[in-house]
Amino acid sequence: MKFIGAHVSASGGVENAPLNAQAIGATAFALFTKNQRQWKAKALTDKSISQFQENLAAAGISPRHVLPHDSYLINLGHPEAEALQKSRDAFLDELQRCEQLGLQLLNFHPGSHLKKISETESLEVVADSINWALDQTTGVTAVIENTAGQGSNLGHRFEHLAAIIQRVEDKTRVGVCLDTCHTFTAGYDMRTADACEETFAEFERIVGFNYLRGVHLNDSKPDLGSRVDRHESLGKGKLGWPVFDYIMNDSRFDDIPMVLETIDDTLWADEIKQLYALQK
Ligand SMILES: [Zn+2]
Ligand SMILES: [Zn+2]
Repeated sequence: MKFIGAHVSASGGVENAPLNAQAIGATAFALFTKNQRQWKAKALTDKSISQFQENLAAAGISPRHVLPHDSYLINLGHPEAEALQKSRDAFLDELQRCEQLGLQLLNFHPGSHLKKISETESLEVVADSINWALDQTTGVTAVIENTAGQGSNLGHRFEHLAAIIQRVEDKTRVGVCLDTCHTFTAGYDMRTADACEETFAEFERIVGFNYLRGVHLNDSKPDLGSRVDRHESLGKGKLGWPVFDYIMNDSRFDDIPMVLETIDDTLWADEIKQLYALQK
């Protein structure tokens, strides 16, 4: 079965996110558990946590199909000790918030070497950050998202994801999230069924579908290999429908949260319907 939703708003409190997901007919969703542009956040209250769980159950959505996303400020591959520790502390807080909400996944971008250390060194720092944070938590899986590779961002090659995973000690608590826009602008073609076949075979060879914990369903404004991260509504960008058709009909994408981060939230309910209609 496929579980589809969108990155919904949690404004007014995390407990509102399941309601927002339900309103668009979602069976999965993503959310920020705190303001994504601030370092510090107030702790979740017991009331907020229990209301979140009640609303989630009422929406008929399993905690396994919720894919929280961490703050954009966090850089787990930071080349400087003090800034790295600040990121690690914030990442740990994000994992703990997931734990409190009874959620099992935390999606994050691997990080950036800021041109101060090598790609290889920075990837090692990311893995060490994950190990440090996993050691202090239980039950939550660190889900590394592939990136478009803007600037000095890591994670645009499948090899980067594999290198991080290789160095993570608890392989049961690390996984990846593939973003279709990022994959494409990073240079992996998916504009036809054949191109999808090839790209996902490469993903299987380098990383392995056994590590796939989530998908971000986005069309792309920029072209193949542009290394630019700009999402577009489904069918309106450079990717078009073939990749979504491919994903909706491939069992390797069963039972994981697949969420839209497309630019027009008024289209989400319709995009979800269109995705389900692709299933043969
Ligand atoms: Zn994404
Ligand atoms: Zn993006």
